[in-house]
Amino acid sequence: MILEWELRAGIVEACRRMNSLGINQGTSGNISARWRDGLLISPSGVDYAEMTPGQVVFIDYDGNYEGELRPSSEWRFHARIMAMKPEVGSVVHTHATYCTTLAIRGMAIPAVHYMVAVAGGTDIPCVPYTTFGTVELANMVVEALANRTACLLGNHGMIATGVDLKKALWLAVEVETLARQYFNSLLIGGPNLLSTEQIDATKQRFETYGQAKA
Ligand code: 13P
Ligand code: ZN
Repeated sequence: MILEWELRAGIVEACRRMNSLGINQGTSGNISARWRDGLLISPSGVDYAEMTPGQVVFIDYDGNYEGELRPSSEWRFHARIMAMKPEVGSVVHTHATYCTTLAIRGMAIPAVHYMVAVAGGTDIPCVPYTTFGTVELANMVVEALANRTACLLGNHGMIATGVDLKKALWLAVEVETLARQYFNSLLIGGPNLLSTEQIDATKQRFETYGQAKA
């Protein structure tokens, strides 16, 4: 059984890691983890190097919280994703450069590499731009993630989800890698896209990939 304090410390560590991995910068981005009947989420606008586990905010699905620090301004989409997808244990939002570059042009990531399948389908969609922190943004995000585990945010960044912090952060790095590969392929004449059948075959293959669970 994971303890609340471990989860709080895990969120702080994951926030620092997303910056040191080069998939985010400054106080941009935010991270949450499911906890009891709500979620623990990074506080708004706090320097990750100075953030402490005690500053991580517990909110319910309506955004109610106690304490002095405000939760992330993006608590709405974090809470909506958790409420909609019981399998999600963690949500990572970053302003990763290549994801954001594509999202500035409103571009989804198509099936440029078989790893696109790890986000659940033949593409990683891009939701249209709207102001950060709004209900409108949360509505568009839950729609885009209905059958995906990651998406891009127009003129903003990206979101990756996972069963836990480690898996969500892993996916964020994979999606940024795909965005970089797609961007680079556009510089050399454009990608050869994989078909729906090829992505389906990849998904099947993933079922037996890696080490069997003990
Ligand atoms: P917070 O610091 O409020 O989490 O906001 C950062 C961000 O990326 C908003 O989209
Ligand atoms: Zn953001």
